[in-house]
Amino acid sequence: MIYPHLKLLKIMYKKYCIANWKMNLSNAQCREYIDTWNNKNVFNDKVKTIICPPFTSLHLFTDLLQKNTEYGAQNIFYENSGAFTGETSAIMLKELGCKWIIIGHSERRNILNESDEMINKKLLNLMNEGLNPILCIGEKKEDRLRGETNKVIDRQLSSAFKNINLNFNNVMVIAYEPIWAIGTGLNAESDQINEVHYQIRNFINKKGLKNKNISIIYGGSVKEENAEYLSKIDNVDGFLIGGASLDVEIFYNIFNKLQES
Ligand code: PEP
Repeated sequence: MIYPHLKLLKIMYKKYCIANWKMNLSNAQCREYIDTWNNKNVFNDKVKTIICPPFTSLHLFTDLLQKNTEYGAQNIFYENSGAFTGETSAIMLKELGCKWIIIGHSERRNILNESDEMINKKLLNLMNEGLNPILCIGEKKEDRLRGETNKVIDRQLSSAFKNINLNFNNVMVIAYEPIWAIGTGLNAESDQINEVHYQIRNFINKKGLKNKNISIIYGGSVKEENAEYLSKIDNVDGFLIGGASLDVEIFYNIFNKLQES
């Protein structure tokens, strides 16, 4: 199905190429990756690269990463301090120089039972702390088969943005990641992606956030082979990349495809 009306949006938003390393790479492997990355030409006004390594490697990024790439964490807790064993706060991550935080990733929603309410608290906390969120949303395969994708996306967005103060200056990225496409080698079709991205943009506009710096990116088995095709889909402002970002050359090739698009 083609959605010609979805092509009307032609405002250019900042593009992002974001690596989510999940629970992968040792400190030694991170150092090697950063060394190789620092020799690449990633200076670019159009596409910003962000790397989100495991917590245990974030300190390496403070000292070693070249200036044109930013880095972030894969999670935060929503309180700034207290008796929360094993958790890490926005304040602690700011001390490590993080500017970006992934919240609402489907692996945390599904494996660690994070609720929409927790994700809302995390979003409010990191907005207050001046950090930039990478908010992940996306439907399960069953939701899509039941025709409930738009309902799920609407629920996730409405609860994430509940009580948000509209006067923020944070930069924000929303990542649409259909869960059935994460780590499976499957991609959503271009009209499926376009439709959901359009829905997200509409939500942002209706919420009174039209003038904010909010990009909408796609995640789910992005690879070298499909990056060009995916980057040309209307309303796609970049990628959140898991598996394929673990190889520095592949991540760089995907970045290049995005900047050429
Ligand atoms: C992800 O973890 O957000 C992701 C999209 O993973 P992958 O690229 O491996 O599907």
